[in-house]
Amino acid sequence: MIGTSDRLHLAIQKSGRLSDSSRALLRESGLRIQHGKNDLTARVDNFPIDLMLVRDDDIPTFVRDGVCEFGIVGRNVLEEFALGEAEPAYEVIAELGFGTCALRVAAPEGKAYDSPASLAGERIATSYPRLLKRFLEENGVEATVIEMSGAVELAPRLHIASYICDLVSTGATLEANGLHVVDTVLESEALLVRTLKPLTPEKEEAAEMLLMRIRGVLATQD
Ligand code: ATP
Ligand code: ZN
Repeated sequence: MIGTSDRLHLAIQKSGRLSDSSRALLRESGLRIQHGKNDLTARVDNFPIDLMLVRDDDIPTFVRDGVCEFGIVGRNVLEEFALGEAEPAYEVIAELGFGTCALRVAAPEGKAYDSPASLAGERIATSYPRLLKRFLEENGVEATVIEMSGAVELAPRLHIASYICDLVSTGATLEANGLHVVDTVLESEALLVRTLKPLTPEKEEAAEMLLMRIRGVLATQD
C-alpha cells in the first residue's frame, strides 16, 4: 500500500535528464526497483522504500514537507526553490556527479560583455529569476529580470530581452540561436537531499542503510 508510515519515500524525476542516472544509482546501490502498478510510484522490493516518480520542480516541495524524506534533484532547481523559502527546508546529503550543467548568462553575437556591470539597465530573460537576482545583487548591478517558463533562448530574437540566463551543458542550443556564453551564475549537478523533518526510528534505520549504500557507490566513482 502506498503511504504506509514505515516505508521511506524517495522522490526522483519521472522522465527527463535525471531519470536514468537516478535509477541507475539506486540500482547500483542494491535497490531492486519494481515496475509500478501506477505511474506515480515504484516499490523497492528488497527494502522498505518507495520511489515517487515526479516532475523535478516538485521535488523540493515534497522534501520540505516531508512527504518524501529524500529526493534527487538538480542544484539549480533546489537553490531556486530555497531562495523563495523563509527557512531552510532540506539538507544536502551528497553530490551525485551526474546532471552536470550550469546556469549561464548568454548574449547575442555582437553584444559586448566585459563583466556583470555590462548588464546594468538591460533586460535579461530567465526561468531562474531568484538565482539571477542574487547574482545581480552580489555584483551590485540593477537590471530587469524577465521571467519565462521556457524557450528562453528565443527572447533576444523576439526582442523580449537583450540577454538570457539559462541552463547550458554543451552550448549547442545557444549556438543554434546565435547566442554565446558570457558569464556563469551557478554550476549544477544532481544532489541527494533529505528533509529536515524528524523520521520515525523505522524510517531512520532505512535511511541509514540507503545512505550507506549510496555513499558506497559514490566512493567507487571518485
Ligand atoms: P520535468 O518534466 O521533470 O519538469 P524538465 O524539463 O524540467 O523536466 P529536464 O530538462 O529533464 O527537466 O532537466 C532536469 C535537470 O537536469 C535540470 O534541472 C538540470 O539540473 C539537469 N540538466 C543537465 N543538463 C541539462 C541541460 N543541458 N539543460 C537543462 N537541464 C539540464
Ligand atoms: Zn522541471
